[in-house]
Amino acid sequence: MDSSSSSSSFSNSTERASWRTSVLTKHFDQITSYSSSSSLESSICLQYTPPEVSEKFGFDIRDMRRLLDGHNYEDRDWLYGLMKQSNLFCPKNYGGRVFISPDYNQSMEQQREMTMKRIEYLTSRGVFQGWLTGKGVDIDMRKFALLEVIGIFDHSLAVKLGVHMFLWGGAIQFFGTKRHHDKWLKDTENYVIKGCFAMSELGHGSNVRGIETITTYDSNTGEFVINTPCESAQKYWIGGAAMHATHTIVFSQLNINGSNQGVHAFIAQIRDKDGNPLPNIRIADCGHKIGLNGVDNGRIWFDNVRIPRENLLNSVADVSPDGQYLSAIKDPDQRFAAFLAPLTSGRVTIAASAIYSAKIGLATAIRYSLTRRAFSVSPTGPEVLLLDYPSHQRRLLPLLAKTYGSYPDFQKLKFFNNSGELAVGFTRWRVRLFNSIHRSPYSQELSSSFPSNEQITGN
Ligand SMILES: Cc1cc2nc3c(=O)[nH]c(=O)nc-3n(C[C@H](O)[C@H](O)[C@H](O)COP(=O)(O)OP(=O)(O)OC[C@H]3O[C@@H](n4cnc5c(N)ncnc54)[C@H](O)[C@@H]3O)c2cc1C
Repeated sequence: MDSSSSSSSFSNSTERASWRTSVLTKHFDQITSYSSSSSLESSICLQYTPPEVSEKFGFDIRDMRRLLDGHNYEDRDWLYGLMKQSNLFCPKNYGGRVFISPDYNQSMEQQREMTMKRIEYLTSRGVFQGWLTGKGVDIDMRKFALLEVIGIFDHSLAVKLGVHMFLWGGAIQFFGTKRHHDKWLKDTENYVIKGCFAMSELGHGSNVRGIETITTYDSNTGEFVINTPCESAQKYWIGGAAMHATHTIVFSQLNINGSNQGVHAFIAQIRDKDGNPLPNIRIADCGHKIGLNGVDNGRIWFDNVRIPRENLLNSVADVSPDGQYLSAIKDPDQRFAAFLAPLTSGRVTIAASAIYSAKIGLATAIRYSLTRRAFSVSPTGPEVLLLDYPSHQRRLLPLLAKTYGSYPDFQKLKFFNNSGELAVGFTRWRVRLFNSIHRSPYSQELSSSFPSNEQITGN
């Protein structure tokens, strides 16, 4: 910072007013002298070079990365390298360094198409290998690291991927049993099928227990019948539903022999291999959003859609071929808590992406305020750097400190979440863990995404 040009403190408002008047007078003097000059001369504010081209660091940036990224540096660099090699990621060369960034001037349709193409490219390079079929903390931490890199590049890409891998794939992992894992996980990892996650409805979002989609069982055919009984029960905001998803997890009330057993999750195919909606499935597009336009959010109606009995994700409850409801967890509250499991890792990743989005927003704002000047204190002196104005300092620096401060806590949360997954299978313990872990990242998600909005918008 250019501290020599900072304003001094004032003992009273008259002094402050006269200082402001003198600064403005000098500014207008400069304008007069510029306009009287016959040729435009270079001044400091016209000698701008983007800092990313020329910046030098007074410390070892690898140490800083170790502190901030925390883990899997080589994997992160490998993925940055893959992205820089492909025109899909819009690489640009400045001063011998390659920078990648999406083109947000593209239309919604173009952004959606680019997001899908980027996913196909990364799939073909093996980026997602092991994300669902691998086991162990190392694989999970690699997955987190790669998802963070993807989120730094583009939030749409991370969200579209997150819905497919962690919501659709995660639901199969957590709610499903071996038959579901064997049938769906490898194809999900390889993007042979494209999954979405239909929990929210027009009438019920946060209050998941109130959703109105109803599923009944037909023991004559061994099928479940999924129905959208009213307009407020249409599935709403479903990421991937508007264009690309071929399959969905459907959350629905399960009604067996006239008795409601609460919310359960089912697998349903919604499009054929050519991308056309299947019979009895209606889909509409949620359209343009203020952000995340690379994700095709949509609405889905189920008109008595029939699915095989095996498509009930049955890790905590099942229905026998003759239509008996079976569950190891008798308490409906605990059963519902188990259903919330896939949202847990989703919340950890939301917290991560909020912190990385905050870093990007703050880096942009702080770099700008360290290069842009406005108004000078003396006629011949340099104009004052924006960051030397206390108003800029007070807005940006506490948010910077908050972002640095929240990251170590978040790293701990990632390890906690991953080691928790090792215990899958111990159902009773798992329900207790899900109850507590669900609340923990939920609060982290809230606390890290609130400052993020503020950090990005400056409000
Ligand atoms: C971009 C985007 C993508 C999404 N993707 C998916 C997806 O892939 N799959 C999926 O299932 N869902 C998805 N959702 C839906 C998301 O999960 C829901 O928006 C979320 O659960 C909140 O539900 P809601 O929007 O119905 O609002 P709710 O939280 O249900 O709130 C409804 C109204 O009630 C008010 N309200 C809520 N709680 C209280 C309270 N305690 N006291 C007073 N007032 C209250 C709110 O202010 C609001 O006006 C997505 C949403 C968005 C915006």
